[in-house]
Parts: sequence; C-alpha cells; structure tokens
Amino acid sequence: MKKFIPGQVISFCEERGEDAHVCLLQGTKILTMRDGGELPRIRDLNAGINAGIMPKRFLVAGELDGTDCIGTILPKEADGEAFTGNGAEWVELRAFFAAAEEAESYAAGRIRVLWNWIKQHKFCGGCGSEPEASRSDISLKCKNCGAMYYPQIAPAVIVAITRGNDEILLAHNVKFRPEVHSLIAGFVEAGENAEQAIRREIMEEVGIEVSNIRYLGSQCWPFPNSLMLGYTAEYAGGTIKPDETEIQTAGFFRRNAMPAIPSPGSIARKLIDLWMKGEISSIKKQRRGLQK
Ligand SMILES: [Zn+2]
Repeated sequence: MKKFIPGQVISFCEERGEDAHVCLLQGTKILTMRDGGELPRIRDLNAGINAGIMPKRFLVAGELDGTDCIGTILPKEADGEAFTGNGAEWVELRAFFAAAEEAESYAAGRIRVLWNWIKQHKFCGGCGSEPEASRSDISLKCKNCGAMYYPQIAPAVIVAITRGNDEILLAHNVKFRPEVHSLIAGFVEAGENAEQAIRREIMEEVGIEVSNIRYLGSQCWPFPNSLMLGYTAEYAGGTIKPDETEIQTAGFFRRNAMPAIPSPGSIARKLIDLWMKGEISSIKKQRRGLQK
C-alpha cells in the first residue's frame, strides 16, 4: 500500500526530478494514468511540458512512496489534451477518488484545498499587506501586522437515516443529476456541533426527527474545501416534507426498490453501499466497513 507523508510547511518549486508524482488539476478534473487512479510522473508529461503548457510553479504536497509529490492547476483556457496520450488521461476528481489508493487521494485533496486557499489569501484581511508562508507550519503570516492564516476547512455532515431494518431515507437535491437520490447533507454552522447540525439539516430539508446519531467516518471533499463527516441516524418521528428549495423529493426506499444513487468515490455512496450490505446496524460492523 502506498504511503503519503504531507509536507510540514507550504513550499513551492519550479523543477523536480523525472520521478516526481504530479497532481495536475484543471477545473474539477485531474490527470491520471490509464487505470484511473494513479498520479502521473513528470516523465509522463513531456508532451505538455514541451508544448509549453505546464505552469512554471508547483506546490509541494509532500512525499508519495518516498518520492516528491507536487501539484499545480492548469488555467481553464489551457489545452489540457496536450498532456494525454502516453498513458495519461483526464478524469473527474470524484472518479479518481473512487479508483485511487488512499495515499493518492490524500495528496490530490491536499493540493486542491491548499491551492484554493493560497489563491484566496494573496492579501491580509486585516491590513492588505502580502502574507508569507510560515517556516514552522502550514500557515501564512502577514509580514506587516503579523496576522496568521490557516487553511480553511469547512466541515459538513452527511447522514444515512434508516427506518427499521429495510428502509433508508434518500432525497433528490436540485443540484443533483436528474433522478439521482442521495443522503441528507449540509454544512456545520457557526456555534454548532456536528449532532446539532445533523438534527437541524434534517428538520430543515425533510421535516423529520432522528435519534441514535452515530459517527461512521470522514472524507476530504475538496470542492472546494469540505470535510465530510459521515453519520447514521434512526428515524424517530414526523412526516417527510421536502423543503422544495434544495430538496425536491424525498422518501424511504427499500433495498429492492432503490432509485439512482451517486457514483462511487463519495462518502455518500460508501454509506449507501454499507447499508445495502446490511452493515449499518451494529457499531462494530460499521467501523470495519468504512476502511478501504
Ligand atoms: Zn496584515
């Protein structure tokens, strides 16, 4: 199994050896080798590099299997196709998460979250001066007023609500592809703990109450900077009433009559798959089930 060791400070580089792993992102896509879940190396990208499309600056993410792992974002207008061939292709980051080992997902998620964060912090919010990377941790420090900035991670909760042994609540959100139903999810708001966020989101979106909230596992979701916290809960009362702004339809579904569900790669799909296998019923089974 591959291992990713994140860097201790923010650093950029302009050149790395032929063996360096590269996380090359463009929009919601990532360049991967043909099996769909492996980061290319510098040596795989010569076509794009020779065409002058590769950005000059890379963020150093850390070490992947003992070799540098670096990343950069291609501008929207750049011809990403120049990097394909030679075994590399573009896939949706979500599909990459489904196919990649945990170490490579970790590296790619880190690059995407850090890159977005750095881009949004070119100037200090307090005095307008330029911040610089700290020499001791992953943070930026304003050269003028000393304000410190840490990467912003937005926690969100996602919950598999069950009723009895054979029903799960699934909802269609207006942002989903047609017909796709998934779990209730939402951001944790200021001052809330995760359990309060779960009860509030469920009440707001479908109008029911839940009990026995249990934590299952989490996933970095860099769109752009979420940490998804996965839970299960049991239906405890009320009539389903979709809010009709975010949630168009919602209901309890049985295993033998499931609607279209999210593609693999998301924690939503992982939780639904666990429930399908009957593994959301005892805490022991749940914990085992989420590990890759
Ligand atoms: Zn400042």
